[in-house]
Amino acid sequence: MTDPQETESTSPPERGRPQHAPQQHFPVIDNCLHIGGRPITALAAEANNRPFYAYDRNVMKTRVAQLRQQLPEAIHLHYAIKANPMPAVVQHMAGLTDGLDVASAAELATALATGIAPRDISFAGPGKSLEDLRAAVSAGVIIILESMTEMQRVAELAAEFATTPPVAIRVNPDFELKASGMKMGGGPKPFGIDAELVPKAMARSADLGLDLVGLHIFSGSQNLRPEALIEAHDKTFELALRLAAQAPRNFRWLNIGGGFGVPYFPGEVPLDLAPVVENLQRRIDEALRELPDVELVMELGRYLVAEAGIYVCTITDKKVSRGQTFLITNGGLHHHLAASGNFGQVIRKNYPVCIGNRVASEREETVNIVGPLCTPLDLLGERMPLPAADIGDLVVLFQSGAYGYTASPHLFLSHPQPLEFFV
Ligand SMILES: *Cc1c(COP(=O)(O)O)cnc(C)c1O
Repeated sequence: MTDPQETESTSPPERGRPQHAPQQHFPVIDNCLHIGGRPITALAAEANNRPFYAYDRNVMKTRVAQLRQQLPEAIHLHYAIKANPMPAVVQHMAGLTDGLDVASAAELATALATGIAPRDISFAGPGKSLEDLRAAVSAGVIIILESMTEMQRVAELAAEFATTPPVAIRVNPDFELKASGMKMGGGPKPFGIDAELVPKAMARSADLGLDLVGLHIFSGSQNLRPEALIEAHDKTFELALRLAAQAPRNFRWLNIGGGFGVPYFPGEVPLDLAPVVENLQRRIDEALRELPDVELVMELGRYLVAEAGIYVCTITDKKVSRGQTFLITNGGLHHHLAASGNFGQVIRKNYPVCIGNRVASEREETVNIVGPLCTPLDLLGERMPLPAADIGDLVVLFQSGAYGYTASPHLFLSHPQPLEFFV
């Protein structure tokens, strides 16, 4: 994979080229960006100029193939569908990966509709409703228990359905990922059962007659630093082996989480997998010596789909205010909250952007790209040098295949919803 940052830091940015756009996935033909073999102007026409997301099936396929080539063979790769739950995407990913992770009854229904075996679906998430649990127990998917209350409820449902559903305990680890974008474990957390309480919880699950298959340890998301992932894997396996030794039944499933990040912002570079994988292979070899029958699962969302997607909106107005140029578009934070900087980011940074129907230009302008909402938060690009653009031109945001469409407040201000294309 080429590193766009390298060119940026060693030479002045090429005129008219997006400065950190990961352009390698999408060809530019006649100065127009293409996705799935189609010019985005054609997709925009098909969308009747409504803003849209487009996801490229081949980019996903290549991504998974490249990852699998590197990952240890023992790893079962799961797709965490909350990253992009569009049914066509989930269907596609079901065919490329070894399983799906879901976090609601609706996601479970989408996963089951792909036809994969229920045993290859796991259902995590705190505060599962009785309806969620009922659907999970009756389907026979692996239920990741996030609390003792959930364990009790599953035991009651198992009695009601006269079945023995496979369950796993989510462990809130006694360590934290140092440089994770979003910490999801360590310290006081709503996720899982504290590591020190897990031995008791495992014993209780046996008393309740549940089929405890193993553990789930997820320590964080959006990680770009190999050292942090290596440390997380070391600690995850150490903790898992320690707990597995106390498991009441045949321990046969271990979900080690995921957390592989993708570069979004200037200065970020793609994750270097080589050292991570080398260390992981060592940990896996050790673990398999102690637990030869264990199925090792890694769950990834954004790493598999983020780079395959773009978000496109149309410039509807252009104005200058006290020396700064504003491109006003028909898309914004209501469609793409993460790109506006309001989805967990501490400091707002620009997603990679290009003008899709005018990728390179002799004339460049520094612009702010905003949406139609009556709030200063509705900002898609801040002081970005881009080819000079006009009303009717298409603004493209890259790295938008994950946490876009369904992670945005579409109802805010009641503008039309974006469309989704799977190409
Ligand atoms: C959100 C989530 C994931 C996916 O995270 P990504 O950053 O998209 O890879 C995986 N596992 C669990 C438990 C999650 O909550």
